[in-house]
Amino acid sequence: MIPPIARRFVAGESVPEVLDHVYECNADGVAVIVNLLGEHYDTPAAARDDVDTYLSLLDDIADSDLDASVSVKPSQIGLDVSADLFEDNYREIVARAHERDAFVWCDMEGADTTDATLDAFESIAEAYPWSVGQCVQSNLKRTRDDLERLVDVPGEIRLVKGAYDEPSSIAYANKSRVDEAYRDDLRFLFEHRDRGVAVGSHDPAMISLADRLAQEYGTDYEVQMLMGVREDAQRDLAAQGVDVAQYAPFGDKWLSYFYRRVRERKENLTFALRAVAGR
Ligand code: FAD
Repeated sequence: MIPPIARRFVAGESVPEVLDHVYECNADGVAVIVNLLGEHYDTPAAARDDVDTYLSLLDDIADSDLDASVSVKPSQIGLDVSADLFEDNYREIVARAHERDAFVWCDMEGADTTDATLDAFESIAEAYPWSVGQCVQSNLKRTRDDLERLVDVPGEIRLVKGAYDEPSSIAYANKSRVDEAYRDDLRFLFEHRDRGVAVGSHDPAMISLADRLAQEYGTDYEVQMLMGVREDAQRDLAAQGVDVAQYAPFGDKWLSYFYRRVRERKENLTFALRAVAGR
């Protein structure tokens, strides 16, 4: 069982628990992006198990009237085995989403996976337009070129600052430089796309910038934040009419995810402890 301290960031261990969480978020006007926790599988069978869970989740979502999508990790669905296995599995999941009028996001992992991930996204989005979205990371120096390459691809783009430590030869290390790159990339997306822009950030400055850019360019966008982080802001933005989606992980591999949240921001532990104490 997940201890209450981790429940702030993880929606449960089972599919029924995460679907209950979706139902509660939807009641507040917040959509949910469901992620089954798991990564770096080194056998096709382990990847297959999670692919099957995603396929059945997509059916559950399509059979309900829930406002939800799923988000997969490349190394969860086969990339550590081979690029071909990853692409086949990614395609199968998106094909099901396309058939059921549902939606699939793909997270972005370390920089050694960027090429394979974007190649697969480009090809799958062309085959199943507007059924898939890809995360890209502004801390990588290559990202502006990637955004130019993806500009006409019929899939959504989630822009994040980037969560992986990368060498300074390929990534900006300084926080203010990452923020500057994020602002530039966000402007590029709003300027060059008329739909399918997702602002994957808790940063009030980036969310205000997105609002200004939407007014300037008339682009539709969505704000995406993690479960357990600025949930009041998620509800407030939704109440103001902004499209908001919460990324909610679930599954039995919750421990390392919880540690990551606490490591990246010590206040998260305080928040979680307060939640346990009921204040
Ligand atoms: P930061 O630069 O960390 O913080 C800026 C400001 O935001 C802070 O000063 C504060 O005002 C506010 N803030 C940030 N965190 C908190 C908090 N816990 N509580 C209160 N206020 C806070 N990274 C990847 O590399 N690959 C992915 O696929 C990926 N997917 C993601 C999906 C979503 C929906 C989100 C939200 C993030 C994802 N990330 C991913 C993580 C991302 O790259 C960043 O590491 C993470 O979001 C922190 O950056 P930030 O823009 O939120 O704000």
